[in-house]
Amino acid sequence: KKIAIAIDGPAGAGKSSISKVVANELGYLYIDTGAMYRGVTWAVLDSHVDVNNQKEVEALLPSLDLTLEPTASACKVYVKGQDVTDLIRQQQINENVSTIASYKGVREYLVERQQAMAAVGGVILDGRDIGSVVLPNAELKIYLTASVDARAKRRWLEVQGTSNEQPLEDIKKNVESRDEMDKNRDESPLVCVEDAIVVDSSNMTFDETVKHILHLVQE
Ligand code: C5P
Repeated sequence: KKIAIAIDGPAGAGKSSISKVVANELGYLYIDTGAMYRGVTWAVLDSHVDVNNQKEVEALLPSLDLTLEPTASACKVYVKGQDVTDLIRQQQINENVSTIASYKGVREYLVERQQAMAAVGGVILDGRDIGSVVLPNAELKIYLTASVDARAKRRWLEVQGTSNEQPLEDIKKNVESRDEMDKNRDESPLVCVEDAIVVDSSNMTFDETVKHILHLVQE
């Protein structure tokens, strides 16, 4: 039977890379909800709307035409027909996305789309509010976490040799500040729900984490 899997956790825990592999193994659809918040953030910056002006940000939503196209290798993100998949990984987006994600209207707009996409079944969604808000009835909920040092190091390795390269210390600061905002906002804060299974990958390799999660699915 195909189920719905919710994976939540702090920034840089490896949720998207792990989810992608697990989804491929299971023949499931992987939906990267963080990429949608990043897509909105890209559009806000691109249109020169003030990130701190909630009303103006929310007024932009109806004209965004934001689409997420899940493929086997990545979730592609389009804003008004433009492929922004690579652009949403820039430092500027990292620095502003948690502000945009704190707005009620933005969350309502995206949650509705996420739920519609998940309705096909056999899905893995990763984010911050999947087990609590988007898919409260998911058959399997995982809270994937790791120490802040382990998470910063992994993010750092990921962007090495790309145009989004950054010093480890800066990455660590961004990871910490996003966690702080995501956990303390009023709207759907990052929480570990009661029925989630906690997976701490600080001392696990990538493959071990994938295996562990596949095992949880089969239980
Ligand atoms: O998962 P990722 O790190 O790409 O998410 C970027 C940001 O989007 C998070 O730091 C968080 O502020 C926001 N987000 C959210 N709810 C989700 C997914 C992401 O608030 N379901």
